[in-house]
Amino acid sequence: MLSIEEIYNERKQPFNEEEKNLLKRAFDFAQKAHSGQKRKSGESYFNHSFQTALELSRWNLDAPTVATGLLHDVVEDCGISLEEIKKEFGEEIAFLVNGLTKLGRLKYRGIVKQAETLRKMILALSEDLRVILVKLSDRLHNMKTLSALHPQKQKRIALETYEIYAPLALRLGMANLSGELEDLTFPYLYPKEYKWLLKNVKEHYEERQAYLEKIKPIIEKELKEHGVEPIKIDFRAKRYSSLYKKLLRYSLSLEQIYDLVALRIVVKDIEECYSVLGIIHNLWAPFPGRIKDYIALPKPNGYKSLHTTVFCVDKKLTEIQIRILEMHEEAENGIAAHWAYQKKKGTKDYLKGKASFADKKELIWVQQLRNWQNQFSDPEEFLQSLKIDFFKDRIFAITPKGEVVDLPVGATPVDFAYAIHSVIGDTCVGGRVNNKIVPLDFQLQSGDLVEVLTQKSKKPSESWLKFVKTNQAKRKIKSGLRQSPGLIKRKKLQTEFKITVSDRIGILKDVVNVISRSHINIVKVNVPKIGFFSNIGIRCDFNDKRKIEKLILKLKKINGVKEITYKLF
Ligand code: MN
Repeated sequence: MLSIEEIYNERKQPFNEEEKNLLKRAFDFAQKAHSGQKRKSGESYFNHSFQTALELSRWNLDAPTVATGLLHDVVEDCGISLEEIKKEFGEEIAFLVNGLTKLGRLKYRGIVKQAETLRKMILALSEDLRVILVKLSDRLHNMKTLSALHPQKQKRIALETYEIYAPLALRLGMANLSGELEDLTFPYLYPKEYKWLLKNVKEHYEERQAYLEKIKPIIEKELKEHGVEPIKIDFRAKRYSSLYKKLLRYSLSLEQIYDLVALRIVVKDIEECYSVLGIIHNLWAPFPGRIKDYIALPKPNGYKSLHTTVFCVDKKLTEIQIRILEMHEEAENGIAAHWAYQKKKGTKDYLKGKASFADKKELIWVQQLRNWQNQFSDPEEFLQSLKIDFFKDRIFAITPKGEVVDLPVGATPVDFAYAIHSVIGDTCVGGRVNNKIVPLDFQLQSGDLVEVLTQKSKKPSESWLKFVKTNQAKRKIKSGLRQSPGLIKRKKLQTEFKITVSDRIGILKDVVNVISRSHINIVKVNVPKIGFFSNIGIRCDFNDKRKIEKLILKLKKINGVKEITYKLF
């Protein structure tokens, strides 16, 4: 039995009564909305929402973010409207949930060139970093339950995680999460290498672990003699994915990896870090060139720690890391750790309230983001709102396949159509944005899901030049206008499909969607009702055999489609 108490208890800073009340309502609402839904793994759908929220609570995030974790899939998967969320939970949570719904439309198709655009788009679409944090937690649980999915889907999601979400987490300073995500993808992306590691490394890990267990009391005793009381001493085993990368550099020789398992000493302040380093070096000689002072010179991602490799007991080379608790938490949780230190200023305006969540000087990740994207606006302003609006002059629209199209502000469905393909631009007759028909001069917004409606005989129109924004569209329209009209007369041929389906709500919509996504024009739809099964007749104005076969394959994937036949006209 899942219980809201678990979510309360997971947070280091306790929630107050008002926050608990909010979370309890979100818990009940989501549980009810997802009731009866199961995931591929067989577990209840609500468990996924629950685990997402639990992780967010573990990251010490605020109550609206944790509530959003619980509610993040109810709009997409339970048909609950955003208005209802707004009515039940207010504008802030509705805003966050909507952000997640928008991100849910994105799909990464493994084109490396697109990865950076997609990462930018995730930031641009989120508008609020909390949306990304929920998305990352959602992804973490999805990765943990990936084995239940179809192998092809496993590969796609693992690749997306590896190339999009793990780097994004790293840029937010969440090194621990980034590593965990990457590690979870490893068996799916590199199954052979993973097996090799399991076979060859396990023993080494265990042996190192046992060795460090013996070292620990020696260090404790030595520190105590020098009056240092460490907060904790623990071990950090190197992650498989990063171990593998390192092994490739050392021609797969495990003997040369000194930090397979590192010993970590956490102390109370920076001064103590340096004195511990001195004590350790007094005890065991350091390996030359392996002392790293990431406190004086933090890593680009903000990581701070002292590292040294020493000739330890039995002259075994051993890596030791020394840091203070804040550095420790920051290294683990990055931005989420900053959030934890926030002092609530009690403002109700969430856009302003967000600015109070971290000390400006500590926000190294802002610096990172700035380096990453030069065109991003003044960081002061950025902190004022913490709205991610550094892609002010660009919008990112999405194709029905989830591909991202990068356009200037004010772009229209015609610009979008030309950005995909000039033929689609030339023949466009209308657009559908987020499933609503819009005029051709409609101004697209970031995150819009855009479908272009085309008609084969259509030609570009001069009037389009008045509203298109991209040079590409302007150029293509002009060249289309120069071609003499009416020369290319295509034969009008049609195909009629007879699709036998089991009667389920929304099946007709699904069928029509699949056809229009293939850029095929529907001429007529016929739906006679005959009880449990019905036949849908659909006439389309094309008759290319290969295209027909392709379309049939796609249609057959729709849940409830039983049989498809077709005739040419
Ligand atoms: Mn989800």
